[in-house]
Amino acid sequence: MAERITIKSPSQLEKMRVAGRLVGETLNFVETLIQVGISTYELDREAEAFIRKHGGIPSFLNYNGFPASLCTSINEQVVHGIPSKKVKLREGDIISVDCGAIVDGWHGDAARTFLVGEVDPKVKQLVEVTRECFFLGAEQAVEGNHLIDIARAVENHAKEYGYGVIREMVGHGIGNHMHEPPEVPNYVDPRMGRGVKLVSGMTLAIEPMISLGTWRLVFAKDGWTASTADGSAAAHYENTIIVGKNSAEVLTLV
Ligand code: MG
Ligand code: MG
Repeated sequence: MAERITIKSPSQLEKMRVAGRLVGETLNFVETLIQVGISTYELDREAEAFIRKHGGIPSFLNYNGFPASLCTSINEQVVHGIPSKKVKLREGDIISVDCGAIVDGWHGDAARTFLVGEVDPKVKQLVEVTRECFFLGAEQAVEGNHLIDIARAVENHAKEYGYGVIREMVGHGIGNHMHEPPEVPNYVDPRMGRGVKLVSGMTLAIEPMISLGTWRLVFAKDGWTASTADGSAAAHYENTIIVGKNSAEVLTLV
C-alpha cells in the first residue's frame, strides 16, 4: 500500500490507460463466456490466459494469498468470491466479476455484474442501478470536488430505490499499487468530513457495491467471500478513472 495520494504524470497516466484497457477487454471477453453451466473456475482460467496473452499480469493472483485472477461473486455474495470448479452458473443468477491486471508496473481494476439467462426483474434493476451509481459517482470526480461528492452521488441514487449501500468495502486510489490512498466510500461517512479535495491526475477505482436489502456483510470461512448478512442479492460495478478538470476519464471501459 502506498502511503500517500499520488498525482500521476502524463506518461504514468498513459501507462494506466494501457493497463485499464486490458482489464476492460478482459471483462468484455469474460462476458462472452457467461452461460448456464460454466464454472467460475473456467472463467478464471480463461481470464488469466487472456491477460497474460496480452502482456499483463493478473494482479489479484496471490494478492494477500488470494488464489485466483478473478473474484467471482454470485447472487448474495458481494465481493471476493473465489472461483471454483464446483460453482457453476445457473439460470437466473447474477455474477459479479472483479478483475485486475498490471501492465508495465501499472494497475487497472474493474468489475461488472453479469446476468445469467432470465433474471428476476427486481434483481435486474439492482444491477442496472448499481451501474448508474458508478456513473453518477464518476461525474463528481472532477478537480475541486471532494471525495464526499462521489460518496453522496452514489448513496443518494441507491437510496432512491431503498437499496443497501455496502460500507465495509470501499473504492480506492490506484496506480503502481492496486490499493492506494484515498479510500473512496460509497456512502456519506460522518467521520470523513468532506474528504480529500480532488485534483486532476489522481486515479481512483470507484466501485459501488449495492444490495437489495441490508448493507451489512458476513464473511465466509474461506476468509474471503463477503455476502450480504440477510442473503439479499448484491451487485458490484467498478472502473478505474482519472480525475479531470471538467470530467473524469474512465480507463477500464472499452
Ligand atoms: Mg476490483
Ligand atoms: Mg477495486
